Amino acid sequence: MSGGALRVVLGDQLSRGIASLAGLDKVHDVVLMAEVMGECTYVPHHPQKIAMILAAMRHFAEALRARGVTVRYVALDDEGNTGTLDDEVARAVAAVQPSRIIATEPGEFRVRTAMRGWAENTGVACEIREDTRFLCGIDEFARWAEDRRQLRMEFFYREMRRKHAILMEGDNPVGGKWNFDSENRKALPSAITPPHPRRFPADAATRSVIDLVAARFSGHYGSLADFGYPVTAHDAETGCADFLAHRLPYFGDWQDAMSAGAPFMFHALVSAPLNLGLLDPLDLCRRAEAEFTAGRAPLNAVEGFIRQILGWREFIRGIYWLHMPDYASKNALGADLHLPEFYWTGATDMRCMALSIGQTMKFAYAHHIQRLMVTGNFALLAGIDPDAVDQWYLAVYADAYEWVEMPNTRGMALHADGGIVGSKPYAASGAYINRMSDYCGDCAYDVKDATGSRACPFNALYWDFIARHEARFAGNPRMAMPVRSWNRMAAPKREALRARAARLRQALIEGDRL
Ligand SMILES: Cc1cc2nc3c(=O)[nH]c(=O)nc-3n(C[C@H](O)[C@H](O)[C@H](O)COP(=O)(O)OP(=O)(O)OC[C@H]3O[C@@H](n4cnc5c(N)ncnc54)[C@H](O)[C@@H]3O)c2cc1C
Ligand code: SF4
Repeated sequence: MSGGALRVVLGDQLSRGIASLAGLDKVHDVVLMAEVMGECTYVPHHPQKIAMILAAMRHFAEALRARGVTVRYVALDDEGNTGTLDDEVARAVAAVQPSRIIATEPGEFRVRTAMRGWAENTGVACEIREDTRFLCGIDEFARWAEDRRQLRMEFFYREMRRKHAILMEGDNPVGGKWNFDSENRKALPSAITPPHPRRFPADAATRSVIDLVAARFSGHYGSLADFGYPVTAHDAETGCADFLAHRLPYFGDWQDAMSAGAPFMFHALVSAPLNLGLLDPLDLCRRAEAEFTAGRAPLNAVEGFIRQILGWREFIRGIYWLHMPDYASKNALGADLHLPEFYWTGATDMRCMALSIGQTMKFAYAHHIQRLMVTGNFALLAGIDPDAVDQWYLAVYADAYEWVEMPNTRGMALHADGGIVGSKPYAASGAYINRMSDYCGDCAYDVKDATGSRACPFNALYWDFIARHEARFAGNPRMAMPVRSWNRMAAPKREALRARAARLRQALIEGDRL
């Protein structure tokens, strides 16, 4: 019987400075952490994602105990584990008899709704604190969005640069420009091999979690064999330092490039530990800025990296909370095809898809351009149901939490939000993938062909997509060019493209190998 506060820490709130622990009274308060089956299975999460979260939770609980904090830790296999967060809170309240519950707002609308019911369910007052780890509060974003006809990341990002004084010279951006993206679209020359990112061997505690996950979630997509994620703040920090020293200088140049032998390219691999709370976003931005100031990394790389964290990550979160719960059912393009089985198996002759899906199975990771311009682009062009695509992205990546996954998938990749996240769909034919990768050379399909039996599927599907949505896109200045090109095409060519696309879509419906 504590009489103090029951402080709830969720699996993605593993930050020492998390709001729910502020003001903790070691004598009377109890921290509740619970591994619950409901959260592990509401989509078939990649086993590496489950292992990372559970192992990080256990290490975090141990670190709290080492500081003298009382932790009520409910392990997945503990007798009496009810399997849901709500019931574990109720069980803890009954056992601990706290004076109040203190929690930090969660990253999912579904969990927030449940959390708001805790006081009523348990009869104990529940204080839900703002998640101060983000650089823009939910209310602050809503105020920024008010009265704006369109929300564009670029303008939000400038506000964030000013607010946090990052890469600023007085009121002006360092280097005279806010954005150096035009320098960041190079393909990778064959002579350059990106360095291997730091991976982390499992200690005994993590090893036992891996065994548990192997036993309980063997039916989930993806393998555990290559698990190498950091599960403590210390290891996450080491991984981050490795990125800043060895990959950040080249991050900008090859930010959009893809290569068969380089699943991580020059990316940071910080999203999974960042989203868990093992890294601090502002600290990451400041440290990247320091690399530029010290002359160790060029501005296009540093600005590009900072924009991802200070701009995109915060913007995406703002959009999620601004538009939920309606956002979860948006399907502006009326996409309704089921998700092809090869998304779960990688069994396709499209080399770009097989490689992107294959590395996702192996590492629970694909970088942004693979997610957006390969697997996302294919789903967009083929017209796959956004609910199914959302479920897939939420399940397969170690960094996937609904607040960040959904606007990226439904908005950025599928344009199912009708243009809230991006002013135009990121639709592209095989030519884009060929320009930005070395995938096409060894592919069974011919990237230069659009209508033959071995023509790259992205080509006909691209033009079919433009044709199907011509009326909608004709009024969008950023889509005017492809719509015009489609209309200028000779009728027989247009017919051949649409016939090839119809065959491809039929093959997807029937589950034939593509
Ligand atoms: C369809 C789709 C789904 C995605 N789902 C997720 C997801 O579930 N979780 C997730 O964290 N990111 C998601 N992203 C964004 C991005 O792809 C990943 O953050 C990035 O690939 C993670 O790898 P990294 O740490 O090596 O990133 P880097 O390329 O090195 O970028 C650095 C950091 O910037 C942030 N960032 C970059 N782009 C975005 C973005 N669009 N939205 C939010 N943060 C961004 C991430 O925190 C990332 O770690 C998704 C993107 C797409 C197109
Ligand atoms: S040819 Fe088409 S399917 Fe093959 S790798 Fe290139 S873009 Fe992908």
